Amino acid sequence: MNEPQYGQTTVAPEDRDRLARKKGIDNLRRGALLAKVTIGFELLLMAADLLSALMRVDNRFQFGNYFFMYALLTALNIGFLLCTNALNRSGGLTSRRLKQLNGGILVFLTLTMTWGSVMALMDQKLYSQLTAFMVPLMISSILFILEDWERWISFGVSVLTLTIGLPFFQPSQDILIGDYVNLAIFVITAWAASRVVYHNYLRDFHVTLLLESSNAQLEHEIVENQEINRQLMLANRQLKNMALLDELTGAPNRRAFRNYIDIAFDACGDAPQALAVLLIDIDHFKQYNDHCGHDVGDRVLVKVASLIDMLPKGADHFFCRWGGDEFVILQLNGTQEKTHTLAESIRCSVRETQLPSELSKVDHYVSVSIGIGVVKDATKKDVSRVLRLADEALIRAKNDGRDRIECAIQ
Ligand code: GH3
Ligand code: MG
Repeated sequence: MNEPQYGQTTVAPEDRDRLARKKGIDNLRRGALLAKVTIGFELLLMAADLLSALMRVDNRFQFGNYFFMYALLTALNIGFLLCTNALNRSGGLTSRRLKQLNGGILVFLTLTMTWGSVMALMDQKLYSQLTAFMVPLMISSILFILEDWERWISFGVSVLTLTIGLPFFQPSQDILIGDYVNLAIFVITAWAASRVVYHNYLRDFHVTLLLESSNAQLEHEIVENQEINRQLMLANRQLKNMALLDELTGAPNRRAFRNYIDIAFDACGDAPQALAVLLIDIDHFKQYNDHCGHDVGDRVLVKVASLIDMLPKGADHFFCRWGGDEFVILQLNGTQEKTHTLAESIRCSVRETQLPSELSKVDHYVSVSIGIGVVKDATKKDVSRVLRLADEALIRAKNDGRDRIECAIQ
């Protein structure tokens, strides 16, 4: 489909049916309004006509003829309204109905204007006026949306009727010339007005198309952007997870540890609190790796990580892989006794799992040594101090024979 352009006056073939429907429905509404006003007006004229006949206002006045013409126009408009109601009740506007509708409106319009011509001819004898023709001509030109060919038919029939009929109804040569001049001026003006109305209507139609097309494009772009945002959020979440989790064991990593410290101490307003760190290191792991291979070593790391992760650790703790064969548990507000119990349960759990380690100098199973660092009134800046204490305690545990727990408290 071609993109509609602002100011365009031609209609693309695919839009023609839509324009015809819109024009038909708009003309129908306007016609119905005009019909109602006309019926009211004609009823008044009929009443005035009857009254003047009864009172014998003017003997030259042909009351019967005028009454007949008013009644004729009233009947035409009532007929139009009835057709409009029937069409509204019939539901959808099929192509056939649309043709009937546009044809019906053209007939109604042509008859109304031709009625004006006949009235203007009748008026010649009494008032030598063209008003009865000019009023429906101007109203129809401004009110209805007419294509050129429709204008040719409605204007053609009514103007021809009047042009041919005038010499028969207007005896005065001078008035006749005046009538023709007036007629020409009014017809040209009405024609021009009708063209302007049609072209404005066409321009509005194109603006509507343009708006609809840019709305549809915008909606499409919004849906596309929403999808891109969703994928971006997903990718971000995955990236964040990747950045905060250890690839091998799936446990949080050191970056996640730093995040936790920030969040935990910010949450309590950096008020001093008991801080304990357990530094857990696999014994003789280098040797284990060398002997069993790196892959088997990896599996041990995963196993030890999951053993530690599964153990209950109480509230306010954080577990992560520190790097290499080292793991860290950080405990906030934990008592020294509870921390030690946790360390012991980790050490026992690893031993009881009995992961074979033939060259181990401790035993023939994989074991861990644990250093505990405790600072009783710690703030965020004491984290490195408590880590250092845990490291010193771990070194002592290693030196004292491994598979054991050492504590350093400040
Ligand atoms: P110690 O008892 O004193 O701790 O002796 P150790 O051999 O365990 O010494 P250390 O803790 O310094 O050795 C760490 C070893 O862990 C070195 C390296 O071979 C191994 N290692 C570090 N990262 C990985 C890993 O991702 N996978 C495997 N399989 N091994 C790792
Ligand atoms: Mg080690």
